[in-house]
Order: sequence, then C-alpha cells, then structure tokens
Amino acid sequence: MDYSLIENAPLAPIGSMKVGGNAKYLVLPKNENGLVSAIRRFKESNERFIVVGKCSNLIFQDSGFDGAVISTAEMKGTKAREGRLVSLCGEPLSALARTACENGIGGFEFCYGIPGTVGGAVYMNAGAYGGEISKVFVSGRFLNENLDVITLSCEEAEFGYRKSRLMRENLLLLSAELCGYERDPADIRAEMEDLVAKRKSKQPLEYPSCGSAFKRPKDNFAGALIEQCGLKGYSIGGAQVSEKHAGFIINKGNATASEVIALLKEVSEIVFEKTGIRLEPEIRVID
Ligand SMILES: Cc1cc2nc3c(=O)[nH]c(=O)nc-3n(C[C@H](O)[C@H](O)[C@H](O)COP(=O)(O)OP(=O)(O)OC[C@H]3O[C@@H](n4cnc5c(N)ncnc54)[C@H](O)[C@@H]3O)c2cc1C
Repeated sequence: MDYSLIENAPLAPIGSMKVGGNAKYLVLPKNENGLVSAIRRFKESNERFIVVGKCSNLIFQDSGFDGAVISTAEMKGTKAREGRLVSLCGEPLSALARTACENGIGGFEFCYGIPGTVGGAVYMNAGAYGGEISKVFVSGRFLNENLDVITLSCEEAEFGYRKSRLMRENLLLLSAELCGYERDPADIRAEMEDLVAKRKSKQPLEYPSCGSAFKRPKDNFAGALIEQCGLKGYSIGGAQVSEKHAGFIINKGNATASEVIALLKEVSEIVFEKTGIRLEPEIRVID
C-alpha cells in the first residue's frame, strides 16, 4: 500500500499549535499514487477528508475530525533541473531553501524558517520578508475534484495576498516547478541565517503557534494594532497573545483549540471596537 493509516489518531502532536482532538483516520501517503488512492477510497466511501501539510497554519477543534486527515508530510523531495527546482507537495520549505542555496538559486531565502510545506505555501501564497511563493512559482501539477491531474501556470493559479485559486476550487498541489535567479551560495546562506536570526529575536519560537494569527490589514500591521489596543499578553486559558510579538497567538502549554479560537475572536472584536479595523484570521480553523 502506498499510504499508511492510523485510526483514532491524536492531531495535537502533528500540528504546530499542539491543540485539537483526534482524527478518525490519519493517513500518510508515501507518494502521489498513495495520495490519489487514499482520496479515491474516502470519496468512494463518502468519508469526509482533508489534505494538509504540516498543520502549521491550521487547527482542528477539540472534538477532532470525523473523517480522514491526509498529511503530505512524507511526500518530500526537491530536484534541481537547469536552474529550476521541482518540489513535491510535502517538501518542507526550509529544505527547499537549502536545496536552492546548494544550487546557487536565489529567491527562496524567505522560505527558510517557515515551518510548512510547499503545498501549504502554494495554497495560501505564503510569504515573508518581501518574498512570496508566487514570485518563484512557474507552474504546478494539481489534482482537481474529479481526481484529474491538471497543470496551472503562475497566472492561472491566481495568487493574491495569502490567497490562491486553490482555495476556491479545492485544488490540491502535487508538485511545483519553481524558478529563482543565479546567486552566490555564500550570499544566499548569509541571508538565510540573517532571516532566521530575525525570526528568533522577534517571534516567540519557544512556544507552539501557527505564526501570524491574523492577515495584514491594508496599510497597517495586525501586531501593531493588537499592541496598540493593550492586548499584548492577553490570554484565555492557555492561549495567549504573545508578549514578544502581538501578532502571534501562542500555546502557553495547556491551551485547548476552543481557547485559541475564542482568543482569535475576542482579539478581532476588541481591535474592531477600538480602531474600526477588522482583523481577518490567517489561521484556518477546521470544523
Ligand atoms: C513559527 C511560525 C512561523 C511562520 N511564519 C510564516 C511566514 O513567515 N509566512 C507565512 O506565509 N506563513 C508563516 N507561517 C504559517 C505556515 O507555516 C505557512 O502558512 C505554511 O505555508 C503552511 O504550510 P503547511 O504545510 O503547514 O500547511 P497546513 O497548515 O497543513 O495547511 C494549510 C492549508 O493549506 C492546505 N494545503 C496543505 N497542503 C496542500 C496541498 N498539497 N495542496 C493544496 N492545499 C494544501 C490545507 O488544506 C490548509 O487549508 C508560520 C508558522 C509558524 C508556526
């Protein structure tokens, strides 16, 4: 079999927020065939399913997921080909950045230190420090809802700020062809190390989180607005607005998914009351 399946699997250990109940099934495809056959199986049995990467931008409810959570975490690998890179959907973004560096391909430095996969990054057009997946994306092979494999160019993937066509049409990334520019590996390495040092000094990496809890509002910063509203350190149960970076909601050790969700809502409400700006969560909550 090209996938492994665990019944009644706890979801908290696999996600970066470390919250959530159990999944009826946790499925780990080993390759593309495994992913397609797992999806076909659950479609045929009318079982609910979701495809995830490393769950670094989503949380499951405390009641868990009454269906199959299919994680691409074992579908890893990046190949360099004539100055371009082809990554499988489960490739960790930091591994992609390292391969780009080894091959003297610049443009992927921003990926270093983002704990998700290429699939998750393409889904929401992940970005940081001026870089964005849409800037290096050439084309991707996707699985549509009829389980046909289709190819989309960067333009056809319709990337926007933290969004893409994948969200609208439930497209699943299988692999992506990516392209950067020629750069000295020593310079790439230096920039990657610099970005990671910035993350360590500014972000609460010592606690579980999903990164930025809210999308950046137009002409503003979520963290600055939250801080301005006096919410730094504000907590509900074990979920807290980080004291180090107000844009992060962290798990202080024993948070539940309900506490994280309640805090997301409350912070958004208070910021709206005080500033008139509505913060939109970046973290996806799976019901
Ligand atoms: C400490 C920390 C720092 C972070 N910093 C950043 C940052 O700087 N910039 C940034 O953008 N994000 C950041 N994030 C958030 C997160 O790491 C990224 O959004 C990442 O791209 C999510 O990847 P994932 O594999 O974990 O996706 P998941 O959380 O598993 O899934 C996210 C969404 O993508 C979908 N998805 C996953 N795989 C596929 C696929 N193959 N095809 C289609 N859809 C798929 C899922 O269904 C889900 O809707 C950070 C998170 C943490 C914890």
